[in-house]
Amino acid sequence: MLKENNIVKEDRFYNFDTTEVISHFDSDLSLGLSSNEVASRLEQFGYNKLAEAKKINWFIQFISHFKDALVFILLAAAVVSFAVGKYTDSIVIVVIVFANAVMGFFQERKAENAIEALKKYSQSNAKVLRDGQVVQVLAEELVPGDIVVIDAGDKIPSDCRVLESFNLQVSESMLTGESNPIEKGTKKLDKDNLALGDRVNMLYKDSVVVFGRGTAIVVATGVKTEIGKISLLLNETTSSKTTLEIELSFVAKILTLFALISAAIVFVSIWLTGNALDNAFFTAISIAIAVVPEGIPAVVTTVLAISVSKLAANKATARKMQAVETLGSINAILTDKTGTLTKNQMFVVNYYNAEKDMNVESELSDEDMNLARNYYEELIQASVLCNDVKLSNGSFLGDPTEICLVEAGIRFGLDYEAVRQEFLRVYEFPFSSDTKRMIVICKKDEDYYIYVKGAFEVVSKNALNLTKDYTEKSEQLSANGIRNLAFGFKKVTNLDLEMNGLEEFCMSDLNLLGLIGAKDPLREDVKDAVKLAQAAGIYTVMITGDHRLIAQSIALELGIITGPEQVMDGTTLGDREVSEIQKVLKNVRVFSRVSPEQKLRIVQATKANGDIVAVTGDGVNDAPAIKAADIGVAMGITGTDVTKEVADIVLQDDNYSTIITAIKQGRTIFNNFIKFLRYQISCNLSGVFIVFTVTILGYSVPLLPIHILLLNLVSETGPSIALGLEESEKDIMQRNPRKSTDRLLTKKRWIEIVFEACLLTISALIVYFYVNSYNPELVITATLTTAFVSRLFHSLNSRSETNSIFSKNLAVNKSLYYNIVGTFIFFMALIYIPVSREFISVEYLDMFTLTVCILASLIPVIGVELFKLARR
Ligand code: ATP
Repeated sequence: MLKENNIVKEDRFYNFDTTEVISHFDSDLSLGLSSNEVASRLEQFGYNKLAEAKKINWFIQFISHFKDALVFILLAAAVVSFAVGKYTDSIVIVVIVFANAVMGFFQERKAENAIEALKKYSQSNAKVLRDGQVVQVLAEELVPGDIVVIDAGDKIPSDCRVLESFNLQVSESMLTGESNPIEKGTKKLDKDNLALGDRVNMLYKDSVVVFGRGTAIVVATGVKTEIGKISLLLNETTSSKTTLEIELSFVAKILTLFALISAAIVFVSIWLTGNALDNAFFTAISIAIAVVPEGIPAVVTTVLAISVSKLAANKATARKMQAVETLGSINAILTDKTGTLTKNQMFVVNYYNAEKDMNVESELSDEDMNLARNYYEELIQASVLCNDVKLSNGSFLGDPTEICLVEAGIRFGLDYEAVRQEFLRVYEFPFSSDTKRMIVICKKDEDYYIYVKGAFEVVSKNALNLTKDYTEKSEQLSANGIRNLAFGFKKVTNLDLEMNGLEEFCMSDLNLLGLIGAKDPLREDVKDAVKLAQAAGIYTVMITGDHRLIAQSIALELGIITGPEQVMDGTTLGDREVSEIQKVLKNVRVFSRVSPEQKLRIVQATKANGDIVAVTGDGVNDAPAIKAADIGVAMGITGTDVTKEVADIVLQDDNYSTIITAIKQGRTIFNNFIKFLRYQISCNLSGVFIVFTVTILGYSVPLLPIHILLLNLVSETGPSIALGLEESEKDIMQRNPRKSTDRLLTKKRWIEIVFEACLLTISALIVYFYVNSYNPELVITATLTTAFVSRLFHSLNSRSETNSIFSKNLAVNKSLYYNIVGTFIFFMALIYIPVSREFISVEYLDMFTLTVCILASLIPVIGVELFKLARR
């Protein structure tokens, strides 16, 4: 439990020395807090979480399902029915409206729960020193007094005072609006009442580390943080509609308009022919109800929500619902190499210096081990000193490239901790993809030891002892797909760590200590995934910071390129403009030694070519490219907080193949939407056509409003959801991607929908007129039965736009069959159980008429099958 010792006034930590702040919080720079202390502080201060958005009250949510225009029409119909004495009609309508709202309400809840579950994946972590060890914990488990370790790409987990800074640069734009990164230091500031942006020794929750690294002590958590105070004011849920939802509500509006117009025409024409007013009114209402696709919004939210959880089960977490739709139209993937195409599990295979070249991949004899220790002592030592890897709970925490160096060091008998104690690090310039190297300055006795590790051409540039042999060895390793790091070193006696140009000084006149080659095995499933993508009309471009020859050898092996002419190096790419890169992209499929800024231009060029592009990335500098993509893909394991924040999907396994799986699913979802929309709209239109034709011809109404409701809500909903959740059609990854400009319902599709509606209408009309000729009493029941059963059969048509219902290309959709059979049995019960028969105003249907109805119901299936046959 933290006692109030009042050394520091709240909010004024920047005015005090780091030691004062540490003792204020009763913490310890080398040990951190103890687990017990953390537990008691968690109780005292609560979790490091912002206030949760208030949930909308379930009752209000339920009521909101009644504010639809259709519901008003229905309720008006119920009132009128009641007024004219049709009590059962009135009750049935109210029950149906209510049931519909209940269903919508539960579906909405289900969708919300799925989204809630997604939040779990976007929780961020923090590296914190506890009981003397750096461990990774959920950011929400931090307490005041915790000592946190901060690296480039991290999101600051809580408000902190900086304790150590190595070129730590932070973007605080979300708090202060200042878009330039701010350099953070440790010195106490003398002025009080400083604005947030001027407190250059403080870090604020949710700002982003763009460069460098450091440590800091947590001074405030959760709602006590600066951003927490703001978030209290913004405590409301906002939800944005997906483009799909927007397009669907557009479709719904068009249909409603169509409904109102045809209802008005029917109303006037019936009334003019001398019919009673209430008769005209009920028919008009029937039409209006017939056309409105009541089920669509509910099905859409359900299908989207279920799809998002399916994606998550396939190791791709969608951070935005829209992503699910866009995935289906992707035709280009710009992927990085390390971790996405390779396993990012490196191991050292080669040591090299001017004296000796040694392959250390396999087991070594004792003699070889001794040789290696002799020849490479300085090189191995440099590789653990110029290295940030830490041991945490028995495993190494850090960059896999660096982990393999420490592991190799241990293999050769090096006590890396002892070496790190002996050569104490006093300064460093962290690694970045821009500089492609890392510098550390260590001190032993009075001397300074400068170590540099990085890409060969960077480290060797100003080296004193560079020979042709070195260059050849580096190229030979690269050509075999082996990443090689060069190590440079120099020793100086007097060094001013505050001097200008320290970085350039460190990079000048270096002695090359040697090269270390490390292998990163390819992921097994990637080769097939690349092929699958190609067949699906999706091309893959590798963009990597790595050497040209390594990139080339891997791309060749994976089938991304067929020859070296498809590789372009960052230096050749230079600062070519986007329009030029557009042309380059016609042929080039691999970009090597690319800077993050070049990566962004490549993304822009791909988009300018009209492609829909998914872009992967992990480092902090990848964020702009990920953001610019149509689908930004962040890595769940190695990705930085920043990239995850701007990404649309996060790969839980960092694997390229997962993108392909997600695309497949995106395509399937999109297809399914088209399937169920075609189905619903064609059914609903047929309802209007039936009533319209019969009444305009001057015959008695073929269906009552309740029947239309029954048709729309009972016959269609089950099959619709089942269609929305169809498995992928087998050839889905052999088709070209959909164009992003394509509408969901193209003109061609509308024409086909109307055609299908006509077939449904014809089957009902044949029954209407035939039954009318021998038993007019039965005509409504027979028409209803035909319309109902033909809709069930028609759902089979909607499973594919081209494939026959018997095609092997379609996966088995058991749930659709169950839905059809279940709904059919339910309907039979409705018309054969006397009570319900009376309730829904139908007559007993004799076997002969029932057979007529069922046979007529097959007309749409036969018609559509013939149409598909002609088209194939
Ligand atoms: P990708 O961009 O596909 O992930 P990459 O990991 O090779 O590939 P970067 O991380 O930008 O790309 O690395 C660029 C180069 O910098 C590497 O080829 C390597 O030579 C060097 N490098 C990588 N990691 C380190 C490190 N931790 N310290 C020093 N140099 C490094």
